[in-house]
Amino acid sequence: MAFNLIDLPYADDALAPAISAETISYHYGKHHQAYIDKTNNAVEGTAHADAALEAVIADARGSDQGLFNNSAQSWNHGFYWHSLAPSETAPSDDLAAKIDEAFGSMDELKSQLKSRGAGHFASGWVWLAEKDGKLSIEETHDGDTLADKDFNPLLTIDVWEHAYYLDHQNARPAYLDAVVDGKLNFAFASENLARGTTWTYPANA
Ligand code: FE
Repeated sequence: MAFNLIDLPYADDALAPAISAETISYHYGKHHQAYIDKTNNAVEGTAHADAALEAVIADARGSDQGLFNNSAQSWNHGFYWHSLAPSETAPSDDLAAKIDEAFGSMDELKSQLKSRGAGHFASGWVWLAEKDGKLSIEETHDGDTLADKDFNPLLTIDVWEHAYYLDHQNARPAYLDAVVDGKLNFAFASENLARGTTWTYPANA
């Protein structure tokens, strides 16, 4: 059994011009695929060969940096593709209320996602997450993830250069503007909030 590259939940040009089909071809087709392949190679023939991706991540954290990086990046990218949508989707009433409670307004949440993303040093991820009923923006560095942490991640934005360089070159804020203003999947975030437990990477076919 091996982990699969998830199906992209939209056409490869559906996020353009914020994220072009060319970026998808590399980011999904090459980078995400490589993380999956490296994870599969690392777990083949080991006790993790039939484990859930989340269990691999949790076990590798702190003990096997290579496996942790590749398994966490496999998960993060699957979660990221679902965090985006061709057109922004609406939050549930519950999520909208929690956004207002934590940030004051949807506009303020978006402003903070942009500023945290722009200010994040080097590679990493910016997350909208829930813990004990409260929403917050979290950041993880490099391949680190919230998948096995004490948060329920609701959505994430990849701020590695490979996420935006072909479309926006070095202008990470332009990428964040384009994604945050119109491409966030708040319906997915609402599903994650309603479930109350961390999203699981789709099981092998
Ligand atoms: Fe990435």
